[in-house]
Amino acid sequence: MSYMALYRKWRPDAFEEIKGQEHIVTTIRNQIVHDRVGHAYLFCGTRGTGKTTTAKLMAKAVNCEHPINGSPCNECASCKAIAAGAAMNVIEVDAASNNGVDNIRQITDSVNYSPSTGKYLVYIIDEVHMLRDAAYNALLKTLEEPPSYVIFILATTESHKIPATILSRCQRYDFHRIPLEIIADRLQELLDREGIAATREAVEYVARAADGSMRDGLSILEQCISYHLGEELTLDKVLAAIGAVDVEVYIQLFECLKEKDLVGALKIIDEAIWQGKDLLQLVNEFTAFIRNILVLSIDPDMTIDVTAETKQRMVALTSDMTQDWMMHAIYVLQEAAAKIAYTTSKRVMLEIAIIKLCKTEMRYDIEGIQARIESLEQQLAETKELLKEQQAHPVVMAVAPPATEGAGTVQQAVAPQTGDSSEHIKQNLRDKYPQAEYEDLLLIAKAWKTIGKRGPRLVQHYYRQASLVAGRESGALELVVADTPDNDLAISYFANQDKLDELSEQLTNMAQCKVRVTFRKIDGREEVHELQKDWDLSRIVFDDIEMHE
Ligand SMILES: [Zn+2]
Repeated sequence: MSYMALYRKWRPDAFEEIKGQEHIVTTIRNQIVHDRVGHAYLFCGTRGTGKTTTAKLMAKAVNCEHPINGSPCNECASCKAIAAGAAMNVIEVDAASNNGVDNIRQITDSVNYSPSTGKYLVYIIDEVHMLRDAAYNALLKTLEEPPSYVIFILATTESHKIPATILSRCQRYDFHRIPLEIIADRLQELLDREGIAATREAVEYVARAADGSMRDGLSILEQCISYHLGEELTLDKVLAAIGAVDVEVYIQLFECLKEKDLVGALKIIDEAIWQGKDLLQLVNEFTAFIRNILVLSIDPDMTIDVTAETKQRMVALTSDMTQDWMMHAIYVLQEAAAKIAYTTSKRVMLEIAIIKLCKTEMRYDIEGIQARIESLEQQLAETKELLKEQQAHPVVMAVAPPATEGAGTVQQAVAPQTGDSSEHIKQNLRDKYPQAEYEDLLLIAKAWKTIGKRGPRLVQHYYRQASLVAGRESGALELVVADTPDNDLAISYFANQDKLDELSEQLTNMAQCKVRVTFRKIDGREEVHELQKDWDLSRIVFDDIEMHE
């Protein structure tokens, strides 16, 4: 039982066997039965949905000597010749590799000779959207006035690329993606025919992996069968054969993110890579998994493609994780997937995404943010209360020097005390801010240009000459100015520690997280973004070391 033998065996040889496209098959069959076949057809739809299979069956049926209810008999000389690919009157062209005007001229020239065998001359042009403009024009002339014995069947996955002039001359049929159940039933039918035992779970997994394409479903099933020849096909065997990660792995990975267990999460990814799992597939499947958890958190009774037992475990995962976090996670993973597709350091991209997800849970927890806002409001109210009280009873608040009886002296003592106290309260509030994280620093650095415009008017010029970059140390921002004669004034301005402290305070209040600004002159030729890039890398390496401790 070789690969090719199976594939040929499973190719539909009657219209009833084309699954999921009944709306098309019924119409075409009726046309054949009532001898009302058209001369130009356009079959549109994603790959593996039955376009070329239907085209070939149609070619057979219109030429069959003894058609049965519109389907070919598969017994007559014509049917056998077409099945063997030896018929002179059925010509298949792949427009992807034959897209020039000369290729199409060959066809349009041969159209003038009626077929020596069979009733119809059938041209099946696959991937027709790949044709060049001149080729379309050559084809168009023939489509306008085709001889009565000619049928063109054009197939495409991208109908929007077909010129309107061609579209208007064809009967158009849109092939749908095939539902999971229909693919699974068809696979089961073929397995029964071959006498191969398989669990329903295994068959459904293959159908799901096929993602709407019957051809993909068939080739995945073949792969599984040849991998485990003569054995019953179980879910485990399917997973082993197609290198898919079981949903169990995603449950574990999700639990790690929930527990913020970075080491555990990276270990799971390491194992998946070690088992030969494709990283992009891993990211996409994990995204789909989180999407399912999100759906279940909205409605636990929602139907998803997993076993009842797995579903129960997934529903359990919905507790503790907010929907905001899950949406954020999907966003981060999709961003990673886009990068993984185009980079050689795929693993690093995936690991960065996982690190982000382990670290940023708090930020996307709306309830948490609400709680923080409430606590800040509370503090603000207390502060106001405190200030009011201070103004009403200045003596009570006085700490040093001891209050005296004289009104004048009290007045003198109060002013600095009020100042000290509110300064003290402000300091207190500042202490409430969390230490800035690396991502905060990057955001502040990015916003530097805008911040500069809001700086003191007289020194805005200096702000423009400076750049702000995230520093190596926690909470540190580095203000850098190129050491050129033009920048002398800016350099002496920022070299002043008081100015830096002022700036640190402004940025801390603005970003609501603690930052500290340091200053450095850099060689004029040194590019600031080069600096930032190096630090990004050192940060990744740093995280890496930390994780393996
Ligand atoms: Zn026949």
